[in-house]
Amino acid sequence: MRKLLPYILAFISFSVHAQSIDRYFERIRNNDAELVAFLSQMPKGGDLHNHYSGSVYAETYISYVVAQDYFINKNTLEVVKAPPKTGYEDWARFSDLAKIKKLDTYKQLLMQKWSVKDYNGVSYPSDKQFFETFAAFGIANETQGRLDTGILELKNRAKAEHISYIETMFIGIRSKIPDLNDHIILNQLEHDQSIHDEANTTVLLNELYKYFIDNKASAYAAEHNEQIAQMHSRLHIDDESFTMRYMNYVSRAGDPVTIFKNMVLSFESADKSSLVVGVNIVAPEDGEVSMRDYWLHMQMFRYLHSKYPDVKYSMHAGELTLGLVKPEELTWHINEAVRVAGASRIGHGVDMAYERKPYELLQYMADNKVAIEINLYSNEFILKVKGDDHPFKLYKDFKVPIVISSDDAGILRSNMIHQFELLARRYKYVSYQDIKHYVYNSIDYSFIKEDAVKKKLKAQLDTDFRKFEKEVEVVYGE
Ligand SMILES: [Zn+2]
Repeated sequence: MRKLLPYILAFISFSVHAQSIDRYFERIRNNDAELVAFLSQMPKGGDLHNHYSGSVYAETYISYVVAQDYFINKNTLEVVKAPPKTGYEDWARFSDLAKIKKLDTYKQLLMQKWSVKDYNGVSYPSDKQFFETFAAFGIANETQGRLDTGILELKNRAKAEHISYIETMFIGIRSKIPDLNDHIILNQLEHDQSIHDEANTTVLLNELYKYFIDNKASAYAAEHNEQIAQMHSRLHIDDESFTMRYMNYVSRAGDPVTIFKNMVLSFESADKSSLVVGVNIVAPEDGEVSMRDYWLHMQMFRYLHSKYPDVKYSMHAGELTLGLVKPEELTWHINEAVRVAGASRIGHGVDMAYERKPYELLQYMADNKVAIEINLYSNEFILKVKGDDHPFKLYKDFKVPIVISSDDAGILRSNMIHQFELLARRYKYVSYQDIKHYVYNSIDYSFIKEDAVKKKLKAQLDTDFRKFEKEVEVVYGE
């Protein structure tokens, strides 16, 4: 008994402690300011659904193009290094705008174009407003120097928000693999897709795979990994309280051969680096090509899984809702991503309630520990899905592992505190202990490859939560 006493006392003290913070959380959850003050200090673990370029704030991009004194089109707000030969009168250098005291006006206009700032919800489709920003600010993201600044911005903001880990979808892989220009293969792929012929598709993917590997896909992937490794160490990204890892991503808009080439490069890279921990597929899921080729993209993941069984991938799937696409298209994307493509995590999963046999699918995800990345504000802004329209409760009831993430905090002018605030405010059945559980999930379901790093991050969460809960108790203890 004497031996057990310290444990019993520790348990009692823990229980009292836990109850007190649980009660406090319930007391403040309906007051936004009190809730934000609480959540801003709470340890948040990792952000597993984070797009690098969409997470940098527009102010950063704008100050860069202004400092470079690029040209802006006064009508379309397009920014370029050098204007076209014709229509020169539409363009102005930022320095010329400053001389006539118009620079601030154009900076504000750019903010509205490169993010959702001041968006009124009706003058333009919200999904277009969101997705079109990427191409618009692309000019501000072109050099390694820019990537350095952006990555440091993400890290510093994360640390300020008590986020200890980010798994960011970083940059695409460049290669000089010659275009195949093989219309026969393209036509065959499209034909096999139209009749869902798995066997023939596999034969074609095999041929393509061989072509890309023969044309130095591994060398291009190695170059990419080297670039990331150099940046990661040059900027001292990992430190005692923060860790970052990178995901390759492939755009789902494009011809299938190019998409498959980018997938092969991405898998090659993620297979060979401890810093590049996975692969994702991005771009609007409701786009014409994304919808038409969705089945084929899932076959590509299935195929590459057989080549690279250790490479993890998460997939934007079910970022759809009624009205956005035909109803029958809402029934199969998550199903396919989970059961055919073998995704380890699903991003968004908003159409879950409409999926074919949703209970079986949810049970499958729970049984196979396929985590769901919940992006509440992104779903509200882009899809107009919030509150009980969101399938959050289905995921929770079926015990699908949940992680809370930000998606594109820069464009959405949001942050991780905001995601947790929406969670706590909208879903009153989510307790403080649930939230804490989701925070731990964000490390457990991360794709970090090194066990020691995962262990360190979890130990850090233990320490940080103890400190946080003590602080709350000191201020508001009962
Ligand atoms: Zn996303």
